[in-house]
Amino acid sequence: MEKPTADSRQPTAPAEGRLVVLSGPSGVGKSTIVRKLLQRTGDRVRLSVSATTRPPRPGEADGREYHFLTHDEFALRRAAGEFLECVEVFGRGHWYGTLLAEVTPRLAAGQWVLLEIDVDGAARALAAYPAAISVFITAAAAPDQALGVLRQRLQARGTEDAASIARRLEVAKHELDRADQYQHIVVNEGLDDAVDEVYRILTDAGLPTGRI
Ligand code: ADP
Ligand code: 5GP
Repeated sequence: MEKPTADSRQPTAPAEGRLVVLSGPSGVGKSTIVRKLLQRTGDRVRLSVSATTRPPRPGEADGREYHFLTHDEFALRRAAGEFLECVEVFGRGHWYGTLLAEVTPRLAAGQWVLLEIDVDGAARALAAYPAAISVFITAAAAPDQALGVLRQRLQARGTEDAASIARRLEVAKHELDRADQYQHIVVNEGLDDAVDEVYRILTDAGLPTGRI
């Protein structure tokens, strides 16, 4: 009788999942796109819940939108090496970071993991995961119109005061200049079209069509 080969005795390990890094200036519609995208992908894609020191907005819950940490908790976890990347965003003393615990176990289990993070954090995540898929969301096809559209959306969202909107638009100029570091640029003019395009990017990259 033929002996089983070493390979045939091994349980089949799930294929490693893919990391997806999505960025774009504040107010461009990232959270809205991600929410709709995840409705479509179901468990095939998991959103990494970032940690932040900024206070929760009305309606945000700890562990759902973010893990809300004090500055001391954030600093301790940073010193312990718990972050894949972390940065101080908007020069306001608020830290944001991706916890390794949100990423590595899920990739190992074959899930795709989506990071919605700023351009500096994205550069670090992409350096650590060169096979990651990167998507930049912009507000208008014409670069000189993008800032005006962002201003309107931030005002309409109504979550920031005038000073915070001005600061976010200042940062947005620098972020729009970094769009070239991404493999894909998606214009969020029509929301449904933008969601379709991001979904297509993932399926073209091999996102499994069935549930895992
Ligand atoms: P971000 O997460 O990038 O800061 P949000 O998802 O909070 O942005 O979107 C900012 C505002 O713009 C929200 O009020 C959202 O409903 C709105 N919005 C998103 N996409 C569009 C779009 N394509 N057209 C018009 N408004 C949009
Ligand atoms: P907000 O305060 O509007 O929720 O997010 C502000 C910015 O922080 C957004 O540009 C968002 O992409 C970014 N951000 C959220 N989580 C992370 C993270 O874990 N790492 C980094 N580098 N940026 C993040």
